[in-house]
Amino acid sequence: MDVAIFSSTPYERQYLDEANKAENHTLKYIDVSLNRDTVGLAEGSGAVCIFVNDKVDADVLEALKQGGTRLLALRCTGFNNVDLETAARLGLKVVRVVTYSPNSVAEHAVALLLAVNRKVHRAYNRTRDSNFSLDGLIGFDLYGKTVAVVGTGKIGCVFAKIMLGFGCKVIGYDPYPSEEFLALDARYATPGEIGERADIISLHCPLTPATHHIINVETLKRAKRGALLINTSRGALIDTAAVIAALKSGQLGGLGIDVYEQEASLFFRDLSSEIIADDVFQRLVSFPNVIVTGHQAYLTREALTTICETTLKSITAFEKNEPLENEVNVG
Ligand code: NAD
Repeated sequence: MDVAIFSSTPYERQYLDEANKAENHTLKYIDVSLNRDTVGLAEGSGAVCIFVNDKVDADVLEALKQGGTRLLALRCTGFNNVDLETAARLGLKVVRVVTYSPNSVAEHAVALLLAVNRKVHRAYNRTRDSNFSLDGLIGFDLYGKTVAVVGTGKIGCVFAKIMLGFGCKVIGYDPYPSEEFLALDARYATPGEIGERADIISLHCPLTPATHHIINVETLKRAKRGALLINTSRGALIDTAAVIAALKSGQLGGLGIDVYEQEASLFFRDLSSEIIADDVFQRLVSFPNVIVTGHQAYLTREALTTICETTLKSITAFEKNEPLENEVNVG
């Protein structure tokens, strides 16, 4: 099948080419992201493969349909960037990678937590400059601290297990409690209790209308003073302006994020010679107790292999009219 792969990067191509040896699709790599201006590049491709920041709204879907596209294959888990109602109305199938490596994302969340708490980013810069002063590098023991896991699905459960291994107390919040989480030495709590008790809050829920800005002025006010916030899920779970205010006042003790609400105009490219126009982002990275990574939590060899194999297998299944295990349905 002809597959137009938007937002493709050299490191992904290697994994896609390898996975394609078993599937034999015709892959067309496109550097730019999919949007209203670039949708013409998909013309004639039966399948279009996209990533997290490709914006697939109604106009893009209409144009894809007209160009002969029948399948939209997301090489990621989240699907908040696709207008699913319109896709269903147009008869366009949507598949995603339901699970690849929850370990990759959970482990990155832990990396952010450790780095923010123990100021690894600051120590790295200091020692390279022969500055061995320890001023300002005091962290706290994770042992015995309370960690709140918001969203106890696949990634949240792996993160919870790792934190239990550190000797933390783990509490969770999820409107759909999971057996896996309940089987751990952890328990569910109300949002109010999370605010009162959590020394660390880590977000592992999807971005939906219900979770948009779940971290906001009010929730930050109710949080324990000095708590650390980790977000490897989606940027818009956090009201960034509210977080900046909480960091300025010291109400929030530190922030580690792999995702940012306006990341589409920044992430996945080298802008080191450019002037960044996003003042909110620039303010965020100016804090000594903030670490930002550019949506790399999934970026392990194991995850990339599974993502590429699953995506191309779904395209083959679609081509052969077989059931689509990883189909995304509306609602
Ligand atoms: P999952 O579906 O297994 O788990 C998500 C959990 O969130 C579910 O248990 C669900 O019930 C829960 N949830 C739904 N609404 C909620 C709410 N209002 N409050 C609290 N919890 C709620 O998904 P997963 O595989 O664990 O992935 C979680 C998220 O991680 C994805 O949606 C995606 O946004 C993000 N992600 C990020 C990266 C990255 O590289 N940074 C990679 C993969 C996934």
